[in-house]
Amino acid sequence: MNCLPDREQIRLHALKNAYQHGGKADPKAVLSKVLAESPDLRKSAKDLLPVVNEVVEEVNSLGAAEIEEILRKEHPEALIAEKKEQRHGLPDLPGVTGKVVMRMAPSPSGPPLHVGHSRMAILNDEYVRKYGGELILRIEDTNPKNIDPSAYQQIPRDLAWLGVQFTSVVVQSDRMELYYDEARRLIRNGGMYVCSCGVQEFKEKRQKGGIACPPHRSLSARENEERFQEMLDGGFREGEAVAVVKTDLAHPNPSVRDWIAFRIIEREHPRQGRKYRVYPMMNFSVAVDDHHLGLTHVIRGGKDHLNNTEKQKYIFRYNDWPLPVYFHYGLIHIPNTVLKTSTIKKGIADGSYSGWDDVRLGTILALRKRGGYVPATFRRYWIESGLRESDAEFSWDIFNAMNKDSIDAATPRGGFFVPDPVMLKVEGLPECDVTIPPNHPPTNKSLGDKEIQDERIEGGRLCGCVRPGPGAGWQGLQAQGLLQCC
Ligand SMILES: [Zn+2]
Repeated sequence: MNCLPDREQIRLHALKNAYQHGGKADPKAVLSKVLAESPDLRKSAKDLLPVVNEVVEEVNSLGAAEIEEILRKEHPEALIAEKKEQRHGLPDLPGVTGKVVMRMAPSPSGPPLHVGHSRMAILNDEYVRKYGGELILRIEDTNPKNIDPSAYQQIPRDLAWLGVQFTSVVVQSDRMELYYDEARRLIRNGGMYVCSCGVQEFKEKRQKGGIACPPHRSLSARENEERFQEMLDGGFREGEAVAVVKTDLAHPNPSVRDWIAFRIIEREHPRQGRKYRVYPMMNFSVAVDDHHLGLTHVIRGGKDHLNNTEKQKYIFRYNDWPLPVYFHYGLIHIPNTVLKTSTIKKGIADGSYSGWDDVRLGTILALRKRGGYVPATFRRYWIESGLRESDAEFSWDIFNAMNKDSIDAATPRGGFFVPDPVMLKVEGLPECDVTIPPNHPPTNKSLGDKEIQDERIEGGRLCGCVRPGPGAGWQGLQAQGLLQCC
């Protein structure tokens, strides 16, 4: 007796494989599944192949409907897993107990979103569609040095074009009083202090660990509350004081040790003018908003965000707020594409680019302007590439192939033209009608026929010409000087 797997095991893999591929299993794929399951069989793979071929042939003769029926009866778990994957391509969100509240927070440092941003927007949108709930667009504009004023209008426009349905828009600089209130509360709870050692000195001390700012860290809550008010009132100038969240001075990651939550920026804010001079850092305003907006799930890309999450959790713990479920995924590198806001700004300023919609850029505006790209392609690409923890590379080839798939049925086939045609007279030919090719041969008749735009040809009727056969268009003949209109 040799150690071949039982026929039933092979049959199950054949059924599953056939189910995934429209009723036709591929023997090689089935064999590799069997070998993956029982690696011991690798040395007898040669003996195995005829058996696999036989089973696959049996299964393939059943037809898709019957295969599905057999799986439903015998292995329903296989069916559910496959169906889910086919429908969504995205993993389930962990910890969903009802409706979800999610957010996307593109930076307002440049006005339009780019192809990379579309991922975050579409993934959030997909999950909210799947589970029901709210999707909040949050404009994180608490750094007045890094805001492009047109972002407030352009970001929602780009998202609308992508078909992302956000339920509300929250602008952080409209919520400054909330951040100040939460800062005072944190100070009273002993979770924050105002350091006036100077930012540079503060950072150096923190880096060494354990000696961060002894004079200010140990001040009473009341004193720190007064010092925070002094920051707000202008008692300190830019760079002279920061409000700092107390964490763990021995934290293995230096950036998580006592981190800066507020700083002074004496600059006009594009939306708020000179109303404020103390602005929260991203990690503070994000934690406060995620709580106050009732976020249930936060999906974020990149390892940087793991550190940020670590920092933000301190705010939740000090306040005893329930944490949202954080879901981290890897970054996507988008090759051969100009995406960087600072590069684009510089290029526009020096005239290398015509604007944010310059067709050489990777902004949504530019891709729209190039024409042909449709929102469905963006959605399909990001759903199919899924949500993995490892970093990955974006493929323009796959993206373009998907786009072709999206627009193919509705796209007229290319027109052509003859520059400087040569007029020749052909004697003795019978009069005939020109056969005008359809715009979309052969499937989409609704797109009609090509039009002949030549002022010398009336109504597409030529006289004294031959009817061109398939593949030999009259335009070709004309171009070669073989044909003439009269
Ligand atoms: Zn200090």
